[in-house]
Amino acid sequence: MKNKIIFATTNEGKMKEIRMILQDLGYDILSMKEAGIQFDIVEDGDTFEENAIIKAKTIMELTGEIVLADDSGLEVDAMDKAPGIYSARFMGEDTSYDIKNQYIINKLEGLSQDERSARFVCAIACAFPNDEILTTRGTIEGFIGKKIVGENGFGYDPIFVVPEYGCTTAELSPEIKNEISHRGKALKAMKEIIRSKK
Ligand code: IMP
Repeated sequence: MKNKIIFATTNEGKMKEIRMILQDLGYDILSMKEAGIQFDIVEDGDTFEENAIIKAKTIMELTGEIVLADDSGLEVDAMDKAPGIYSARFMGEDTSYDIKNQYIINKLEGLSQDERSARFVCAIACAFPNDEILTTRGTIEGFIGKKIVGENGFGYDPIFVVPEYGCTTAELSPEIKNEISHRGKALKAMKEIIRSKK
């Protein structure tokens, strides 16, 4: 039987991405649901890293297993890096992303491509049962488009343009997005750290 790692998320879409990236690490990767854990965690940190650590540490203390957690969001430079760590809660958790995305497009009206710069950020924390906690960070740089385009992905993907591909992350296949995304990069860096500790 393989050793396990719990990923502290209830988001099945994320779990799919995570399994794809960590499949050759030699651990069974379990979601909170698969690990039989139901627990509401208050994310009250001031940075992506702090929030990821809060989640990973809480579930590690509850289970005694190795626990990974992530925290991510969109930083728009012309909006003082908002929505940042508040990306999910921006304009209210129940507000549709069509509304949130259109709001950001309107906010940036008249600005040049350079002035529309933005990035997705992801911090991954790994909490080990010996109380060691490590974090990695991945980013992807781009700019906010002038309209909502693309059907793939989720959240702010339809307004986030990747210059190298000339399209939004909502127009990329999941495989390509995983390859270049903030979460993909942070997770691959964490995978190498975990591998080196085996
Ligand atoms: P969390 O990391 O699950 O707290 O998610 C933070 C929020 O950031 C999500 O609800 C999205 O609004 C946004 N976000 C994070 N990663 C992405 C992405 O890859 N595409 C689009 N939106 C994202």
